[in-house]
This record gives sequence, structure tokens and C-alpha cells, in this order.
Amino acid sequence: MSSDAADAGEDRRKYEFRKVIEELQEYEGSGTQLVTIYIPEDKQISDVVAHVTQEHSEAANIKSKQTRTNVQDALTSIKDRLRYYDTFPPENGIIIFSGAVDSGGGQTEMVTRTMDSPPQPVESFRYHCDSAFLTEPLENMLADKGLFGLIVLDRREANVGWLKGKRVEPVKSASSLVPGKQRKGGQSAQRFARLRLEAIDNFYQEVAEMADDLMVAKRHELDGILVGGPSPTKDEFLDGGYLHHELQDKVVGKFDISYTDESGLYDLVDAAQEVLADQEVMKDKSQMEEFFEKLHQGNEATYGFEPTRKNLVMGSVDRLLLSEDLRSDVVVYDCPNGHEEFEVVDSRHKTPDHTCSECGEETEMREREDVIEHLINIAEQRGTETKFISTDFEKGEQLMDAFGGIAGILRYSTGV
Ligand SMILES: [Zn+2]
Repeated sequence: MSSDAADAGEDRRKYEFRKVIEELQEYEGSGTQLVTIYIPEDKQISDVVAHVTQEHSEAANIKSKQTRTNVQDALTSIKDRLRYYDTFPPENGIIIFSGAVDSGGGQTEMVTRTMDSPPQPVESFRYHCDSAFLTEPLENMLADKGLFGLIVLDRREANVGWLKGKRVEPVKSASSLVPGKQRKGGQSAQRFARLRLEAIDNFYQEVAEMADDLMVAKRHELDGILVGGPSPTKDEFLDGGYLHHELQDKVVGKFDISYTDESGLYDLVDAAQEVLADQEVMKDKSQMEEFFEKLHQGNEATYGFEPTRKNLVMGSVDRLLLSEDLRSDVVVYDCPNGHEEFEVVDSRHKTPDHTCSECGEETEMREREDVIEHLINIAEQRGTETKFISTDFEKGEQLMDAFGGIAGILRYSTGV
């Protein structure tokens, strides 16, 4: 599979996960009875079964009979699901949600959702029982998967690492031999100052080498580099041109932080939230800018369901742009005279009656499906890449509001 195709598959999987999360977030339990389990790939299934069995017997102590029954039912359902797996979970682990959710009018309904191989690894085993499902760790996995290099330093120590998606990964550290500001007796002040500056310079070089070793090979995948530390250390380091010039060009922000041990890497990411949010929509922004440029200059752009679909079927779409906020279904109708028609409806609304626009006959519904899945299916058959565009910036909002959440950048003009 080419990496483009892999990316497309990944986007689609992310979309499917996102939809399930939205569904799960709507659910509420009347008591503490909704169970969520996150299982990392290196956890033995038999251990998980033992844990669930233990929880099941402990649940016998729950006072409310209804909650007790609900929790035990959820756990039984989870045990049933676990039987489908071998010794270990599949790649990246498993997440299971199970519980009796309110379905209105004092009624409950048992819901169980299993999610295999999430987009990023489940990091630790979690058992969670609450009145809502625990979806946050899964949401974090779906966050745009950027790769950032992290460097924190002062004159005494430095740490470098990665930010992968929302996960900080410390990699290497160094500590310096830079003497403190107090000189020993017998040393001339001048000589001491010179030695100290030399030691600082050496240390900056060492830190730069450490960062180069880690990041130069990945420079083409990097979305940016963040540098943190107290002033003026980080400024001296950056202004001194110690880093490999291609890495230097990737620096997207420097931040004041007090700690330069491993915890400093986390502080750096916290301090850089705004820059990271900008970076996240940057790729979406450039897609939308290209779309508007093509739209204004000529005919190599399309938008709206029907024109985009027609272009997709013709194989003329280079990139399909879909709004992340699009939640609609497409209904396919057949009329007695053989015309095929489509109507896009809000996912929450029922299927409307449809009269054929060609011959005016009453039509019959053939199928109704998620509009995004409908379009991605065609795109995949035609080798068209799909990009999901966030609504966190103006042109992204326009895609949703003015173009129905669906657009395409064309390979050539089709006049459709
Ligand atoms: Zn017709």
C-alpha cells in the first residue's frame, strides 16, 4: 500500500472512531454503571478476564440492586467479548465500552462497543466505572497526529524528545560541567569567566549534537521543533546557530519554562498549546487556500454533494475535502423510469419522500448511508485522497457552511 493510500485508510478509520465516540458521549447511566476498559497490546487477555471476574464479584457489594445488576451485566458482556481474542490483544490494543444506558422514559438499554486497534497504542490498562463512558483517552488518540521535536535546556542540563500526537516521549538527556557562578579562591576573575563561557559553549554544542542525532533523520516528517528553557539560555542557544540549519528552520516557537529535566518536556508542550493548535490547522488551511485559488481562477474545483460525486465517479478529483463537522446521510432513490437520484439529509432526520427531478414520478428509497462513507468509498476506488478539514479557522468554517461540507480539488477541468 502506498503511503497516500495508508493515510486515506487511516483518515477513514479515524472518522469511524470519531463517530462511535460521539455516540458514546450521548449515553448516560442512571447510576455508576457504565464500564470502560482500555487494554494495551502487551496485556494478556487472561489477566484482563481475571480482573473483570474480580470486579464482578466485588460488584456484589453494590447497595442498589439495579446498579448492581447493571454493572454485573456489563462485566459479563465484556467477558463475552474478550473470548474472541487470543493470548494478546491485536496491535495497539482494545477498548471496550459496556453498560445499561438511559433510553428515555425510565427505560434502559444495554450497549456494548468494542474498538480494536485504535489509531495509537493504548498506553496503560484502565478499568473505569462511572455514570458516563470514559472516551477521553480515545479522543486524544484521534487528535491530529503531528510530530514535533522537543528541546529543553538551561546551562546545567538538557532533555530532548518527541511529541507524537498528544504523547510526549523523552529520549535523551545531558548534563553539563559548567561551573557555577562562584569561583574558587586563587582563580583570576577573568580566567574564570572565560572558562565558564567555554564550558557553556561546549554544552550548547553537546545539546545541539544530541538534537541533531535524533531529529535530522526525521526532518522531513517533522511538523516543527519547540525549544524551552529559562531566559537567556534558550535564546543564546537558538541565536548562536548551534542546531543543524535545517532543524533551526523548523523551530516554531520558544518558551519560558523553569524545569529542564524530563518534566520540562511536558511543561514545554503545555506552554506551546497555542502554537500547536495553529500548526494543527496549518495543513487544513493550505488545502482550503488551494481550493479557493482553483475556484477563483478556473474550473479545477468542485463543491456540493452532486457535482463532487459526479467528479469523483469520473476519476477527476485529486483531493476530496470533507468537513470534520459533516454529519449527514445520503439517500439514494430509484424512480420507475430508471433515474437514480440523491438527497443529503441530516443524520438525525428521517428519510423524506422524493419526487424524480427528471420525470416527476414518485421514487423509492434504495439505500441510506453516511454521506462521508459513501464518498470515501468512491474516492478509494478511484485513487482519490481524502482530507478532513477542521472548522477551527475561517475557510474551514466556510467549507461547512457555504459548501455543505463537501468539496474537491480537481486534476483537470470537467465542466461538471
Ligand atoms: Zn425519473
